[in-house]
Amino acid sequence: MYDLVVIGKGPAGLSAAIYAVRAGLSVLVIGRDYGALEKADKIENYLGFEQPISGLELLAASEAQAKRLGVELIVDEVTGVSWMEHFEVHTSKSSFEAVSVVLSTGIPRRKASVKGITEYEGKGVSYCATCDGFFYRGKSVAVIGSGDYALKEASELKPFAANIYLMTNGRDFEGTFADEKIILDKRKIAAVRGEDDRVAGLDFEDGSKLDLDGIFVAEGTASALDLALKLGLDNDGKVILTDGGQATNLPGVFAAGDCTGGLLQVAVAVGEGAKAGMSAATFVKESRGEKAPKLQWGG
Ligand SMILES: Cc1cc2nc3c(=O)[nH]c(=O)nc-3n(C[C@H](O)[C@H](O)[C@H](O)COP(=O)(O)OP(=O)(O)OC[C@H]3O[C@@H](n4cnc5c(N)ncnc54)[C@H](O)[C@@H]3O)c2cc1C
Repeated sequence: MYDLVVIGKGPAGLSAAIYAVRAGLSVLVIGRDYGALEKADKIENYLGFEQPISGLELLAASEAQAKRLGVELIVDEVTGVSWMEHFEVHTSKSSFEAVSVVLSTGIPRRKASVKGITEYEGKGVSYCATCDGFFYRGKSVAVIGSGDYALKEASELKPFAANIYLMTNGRDFEGTFADEKIILDKRKIAAVRGEDDRVAGLDFEDGSKLDLDGIFVAEGTASALDLALKLGLDNDGKVILTDGGQATNLPGVFAAGDCTGGLLQVAVAVGEGAKAGMSAATFVKESRGEKAPKLQWGG
């Protein structure tokens, strides 16, 4: 079991990992890619570089720094986090146990692209199978998405729903698909169909229709908000809410960087990551009955 699993290897996640490992924690960072900065050609407002530096250069150096200090790093996609006696972080390939977790997954860059989805949010359209699956006992549901995250959401519905469709919306499924209870459907979606102000089904571009009781959106990878919903973390519908020390309302879970809103900049992500890493160190040490520094945060 790791003392801390950090989800995301952007500036916030790597900064959290560096502070936590230097405070004596065993730390694993799981990141899918380099995040928002991967596309930044020139950064010239981050302290310490006389000449502009590319996002990739900055992140490669930060990753090497974290590794040198003893942080373990893996490239994988997190599909969910659960809590029993400790946290379990589920990925596409495996799962990892942790005493504490830092969420630093940035902000989602892809939104559900289907006409009518936003209109029916909370009226049959859901973003969390763990939270809402129970309401669809014996019913027909669709999960919109074409990757591991969508398959994970569809699998969570198996104990409840009678029919589960995995709708790739015209795409091929990314990876291997083999599940007898989940029907893979590649038709291109035209719109969500409603009746009496609730989801009634999906209409397809080829003119066909599918009657449904519920639709779960799981496009792309799990965003910070998706993970937050599964853990019951306070949020405002867009970002995760934290206190001044980056603690969420669930003890042991911290959030840092763009996923907490505010000024979406590297300097802020690094600062919040530092606070999250230190707060996680205090949490882990206190949970072991060890002496931990008492941190005072405003806000
Ligand atoms: C084009 C561009 C240019 C920019 N230029 C500047 C600039 O010049 N100066 C500046 O200060 N800021 C700049 N920014 C903003 C800056 O990039 C962000 O504020 C900063 O990267 C936020 O850091 P973060 O760690 O919170 O998130 P990110 O850097 O977005 O990192 C998120 C991490 O989470 C991972 N992740 C997400 N979901 C999952 C999942 N389900 N499983 C596993 N891993 C996951 C990603 O792979 C990534 O590693 C720019 C942004 C863009 C898009």
